[in-house]
Amino acid sequence: MSKTLDAFLNDNLQELKEQGLYNEVDPVEGPNGPIIKVRGKELINLSSNNYLGLATNDELKKVAKETIDKYGVGAGAVRSINGTLDLHVQLEDKLAEFKGTEAAISYQSGFNCNMAAISAVMDKNDAILSDQLNHASIIDGCRLSKAKIIAYKHSDMEDLRAKAKEATESGLYNKVMVITDGVFSMDGDIAKLPEIVEIAKEFDLISYVDDAHGSGVTGKGKGTVKHFGLEKEVDMQMGTLSKAVGVVGGYVAGKQNLIDWLRVRSRPFLFSTAVPPGDTAAIISALQMIIDSTELHDKLWDNGDYLKKGLKELGFNIGESETPITPCIIGEEKLTQQFSKRLFEEGVYAKSIVFPTVPKGTGRVRNMPTAAHTKDMLDEALAVYEKVGKELGVIQ
Ligand code: PMP
Repeated sequence: MSKTLDAFLNDNLQELKEQGLYNEVDPVEGPNGPIIKVRGKELINLSSNNYLGLATNDELKKVAKETIDKYGVGAGAVRSINGTLDLHVQLEDKLAEFKGTEAAISYQSGFNCNMAAISAVMDKNDAILSDQLNHASIIDGCRLSKAKIIAYKHSDMEDLRAKAKEATESGLYNKVMVITDGVFSMDGDIAKLPEIVEIAKEFDLISYVDDAHGSGVTGKGKGTVKHFGLEKEVDMQMGTLSKAVGVVGGYVAGKQNLIDWLRVRSRPFLFSTAVPPGDTAAIISALQMIIDSTELHDKLWDNGDYLKKGLKELGFNIGESETPITPCIIGEEKLTQQFSKRLFEEGVYAKSIVFPTVPKGTGRVRNMPTAAHTKDMLDEALAVYEKVGKELGVIQ
């Protein structure tokens, strides 16, 4: 007899709960700014990806409201029928300007952008060299493509080179892609793009960079590819519009022929309704802000450096982050969750991240300071970290 749905769900939910791996989601009761309200409690928020504070920016709220009055709340159709509004075209021109490429295409989310773009370009006769720590949406996009997935050790260029050589010399594959996060979100380290591009050139690989956490953050706001001056070298620059840009959506920027292909072959563009007009207009204005000024970017980095220094001085293990993403590595899963729970009770929202999101035994509380935090907020958070760290024996 086959298992019923109830039996499957109950058994598996129970197992997750017993292992301390069941993630309870707390709704945020109001804006997702530097201070949030959860379960009626005001907390310093160190868990959002709202890096530049744009998700709650007054000017962007005004633009979205005015656009809704003009266009309505929905795009009305998929992009390929008549859901492409003039605003989407303006957005894609702005994205190409932002990324320094010939053209760009936008999607409803960063997640479906990876699913869309990878599977539109790669197929079962191809192979994809994928960093071991790449984001779930990259992994799912690779799986959807049916290409052979060859994982290489995290940021290990010798391993990548050896696997690129083997894959290309095997004669088994039509095309071979190398795909990497630009900034790795669990540790805050930056991909070794100059070496990756060099290997891609040597072996004729298609290069794909997911810069979800780099856009608005690295390269003076223009992203990790720009940070290394490789705009003309990376074939596919992917990013999200939901993190530093503060709204929702994803994009791929690259050459015109790539974008022409994605317009006719990527399935979320063809079969899923477009991003609403209010959001699209807000994204265009947010990108313009990032292009025009580095003020928010500078504030973000200043706050990131401040928090890192404070945590390090207290004796926490903050790993090897090269960006404002600041992990506080605790180790054991249950202790990590207890740490995060105590932070919450003391007024700091910093979510625990444990296996399977990160390897077993490297549980962490991840801190994402933003441009919208004040130094007073960060000082308060550091005082709570000190109290909880000493209480749980994580620091002396
Ligand atoms: N890529 C990476 C590296 C990400 O971290 C995320 C978001 N967690 C995504 C893609 C998906 O982006 P979105 O949230 O816009 O769907």
